[in-house]
Order: sequence, then C-alpha cells, then structure tokens
Amino acid sequence: MNSSSRASKQVFGLLFSFAKNSPNITLVTGICECVSAIGPLLGGGHSLLQSQYGFALDNLISVRLVLADGTIVDVSRTRNADLFWALRGAGHNFGVVTSFKVKLYDAPPQYQLYSLLFQQDKLEPLFNLINEIDSPTRARDPKLFINGVLTRIPSGAAVFNYTIIYPGTKAQLEAHAKPFLDIGPSFTKYVPDLNYGNIYVAFGQGKSSGPCMKNTNQGLMGVALPKWDIEGMKKAYTIYQNLTADPRFPYSFILLENYGIVNVKTVDPDSVSLPREERERPILASPVITYRVANDQTKNDASDYSSRIKDALYMAVDASNGKVKRHAYVNYASGLESVPEIYGYEQWKIDKLKKLKKKWDPNNRFRFYNPLV
Ligand SMILES: Cc1cc2nc3c(=O)[nH]c(=O)nc-3n(C[C@H](O)[C@H](O)[C@H](O)COP(=O)(O)OP(=O)(O)OC[C@H]3O[C@@H](n4cnc5c(N)ncnc54)[C@H](O)[C@@H]3O)c2cc1C
Repeated sequence: MNSSSRASKQVFGLLFSFAKNSPNITLVTGICECVSAIGPLLGGGHSLLQSQYGFALDNLISVRLVLADGTIVDVSRTRNADLFWALRGAGHNFGVVTSFKVKLYDAPPQYQLYSLLFQQDKLEPLFNLINEIDSPTRARDPKLFINGVLTRIPSGAAVFNYTIIYPGTKAQLEAHAKPFLDIGPSFTKYVPDLNYGNIYVAFGQGKSSGPCMKNTNQGLMGVALPKWDIEGMKKAYTIYQNLTADPRFPYSFILLENYGIVNVKTVDPDSVSLPREERERPILASPVITYRVANDQTKNDASDYSSRIKDALYMAVDASNGKVKRHAYVNYASGLESVPEIYGYEQWKIDKLKKLKKKWDPNNRFRFYNPLV
C-alpha cells in the first residue's frame, strides 16, 4: 500500500466511524468497508446514495492536493477550477489528495434490507425485471438500492444474490421487493431497522466479508451497460461455473450492480471530466477473480476468464455495430482498456484532460493507475 492510499484509508476510517457514531448524518461513499473514500471518488464513486445525491464526486466541495513537485494546492469551484474539473473523473492522474471536503446529508432513521438468492432457472425473469425497473420510461424511486452478485454457495451452486435496500418502513421495502419475491427466490432474508453505519456489515460488505478478504489477489474487469442482455448473461453464467469449479478460483464472483441513476443523470455531464457514459448507463458489472497464489500461469488464466466473462457481458453492445461502445468504469478497469474506453469518447474532454495534465503534472509522474497518458 502506498502512502497516499494509506492516508485515504485513514480518511475513510474516520468517515466511516463518523457515520457509525453519527447515525443522523450520511455522505456519499462506496458500499464496501475496506475501500477508501477518495480512491473511488476520484473516478466517480458509485454509492448506495448515488441515485438520491449523484456520484461521490458530484458531492466534492474542495481538495488539498500535493503535486509531483511537492507544491500544495487548494482546489475547488473557485480555486484552480480547471484542476477541480479534471480531478472529478480523472483524479488519479494529477496528485495526492491529503484532505477533502464533501457534502453531508441528514440520514433517514432506518433502512430495511432484503437479501434474496435466485437459482440459474430464474435468470431470465430476474434480469428482465431489473431491465424494466431501470428502463428510461419508468420513474424509479431514487431511494431504492438494488445490488446483485453472482456467487457460489457452499452447496456448490452458482446463485444470484440480490440485496434490496430502502430507507423507510418494511411496507415500503416490500412494495419494491414484491416483483423480486414473485419470481421465487430460493432463499429470503429480511433485516430490519439498520442505520447507515451498520448497513455495510448487514449487506456482506464489512471488513471481514468475502470482498474484503486479506492476502488475496483480486482482478476486476468492469463493464458499464445500458441494459442486461439475457443471452450474454447466460454465457457469463456458464463461464462463471467453470471458473469457480477451478480449485484456484472458487471464491471469485461477478458484481451485478444497478444502484440507480435518477439524480446521477440530473448533473450536467460537462461540469466534470467524468465520461458521459458513466452517467447514462444504469449497470455496472465486473468479474472479480480471486486467487491466493499469483504465479504467471494463474495470472494468465485469471485474465482469460475475466476477458471471456467481459466479452459475454458486452455481447449486445458489440452487436450494436458501434451504436453503443464499450465503456469501463475507471475504478473497475483492468488496465487493458483503451483511453477512450475508460475516459470517454468525447474528444474535447480527452484533449482538455491532456492539456491539464501537461500543466499540472508535466513529467507525467501520476501514471500508475489507469493512466491518461
Ligand atoms: C471489494 C471492493 C468493493 C468496491 N466497492 C466500490 C463501490 O462501492 N463504489 C465504487 O465506486 N468503487 C468500488 N470499488 C472499486 C474502487 O473504487 C477501486 O478499487 C478503488 O481504486 C479503491 O480505492 P482505494 O483507495 O481503496 O485503493 P488503492 O488501491 O489504495 O488506490 C487506488 C488508486 O487510487 C488512487 N488514490 C488512492 N488514494 C489517493 C489519494 N489520497 N490521492 C490521490 N490518489 C489516490 C491511486 O491512484 C491508487 O493507485 C470496490 C472495489 C473493491 C475491491
């Protein structure tokens, strides 16, 4: 871990304990307890709260940044505004954030949660339902949070584990969960009356959860999609079964995220460097290949499984003859993508970012993480 990420994890620790000990306050952060606050934010910041308040970066007020030459700069809408624009989307390319201010919100008194498991035979109705919920003609409730993962349970079956969270009463959650329950999950768990600070653990994203497992390698290869493609999902499911039957990768999973984009879409896409595609696509998915021993063969095989799952998820996008292009969320990117695939296809944004890069990091010191140049 480098010192910047150590610092950002400390900041997240502070934010998290702040949220835990101040149940009346929330802020837009990622949904996993072992991920920092600023790492995700610099490239977007997908969150339980995004559909209500926009991405984490939409809630950034100011930053203190150390440049490659050691200069400290304050950055906000009114101070070094060009850099503020660049940091919100391509932020890993410009410096080390040592402190930052974000907006806070009043927290609802309680969240209700359903965790549901669906077997393979429910794939089609499940993904048709989620497409329907996120279809552009439907007014999705911005408080509704839906998150899925394809995982292997101890009995050996690969199942879709969906979590539905709503800030309100059980009756309100049930109204949203009913179409999912009607499909016939094989397992249902209801968790009542959570405050914001203890959602992470209830949701299986706490520090001791599978996604936060220590001493493992985790490879992501994210895709952002306009809708689920049933045939592509079927193919991805089969590859996932083979992947997790391989004794090197049994704990791997596929993220299937539909957090909601109601108020992500209301922010002017040109006000930040974040690519437009990130705001417009309601689905974030990624194989997460987990393995302990990282020899060359295992690394190659992990990458091969990831690529095949990614290609399956992109099947309909690739068949669109260029009408829809591949887009990877920078924080889920594998590093094998092209610059436009990560930072967007709008040439003016890429040109502006490269110009700002020359101004603020002329020797291209910050090029470790999905670099622009
Ligand atoms: C289990 C898991 C759950 C996740 N959940 C979410 C989620 O809910 N929402 C979401 O949007 N993403 C999520 N992600 C993806 C996450 O955004 C990226 O993995 C991100 O890189 C994590 O940042 P980090 O600081 O924790 O990691 P690190 O590996 O420590 O940092 C990643 C990169 O961020 C940059 N960085 C970190 N700190 C600083 C700093 N202070 N100043 C400048 N640059 C810095 C550096 O370039 C660094 O290389 C998740 C990832 C995992 C593995």
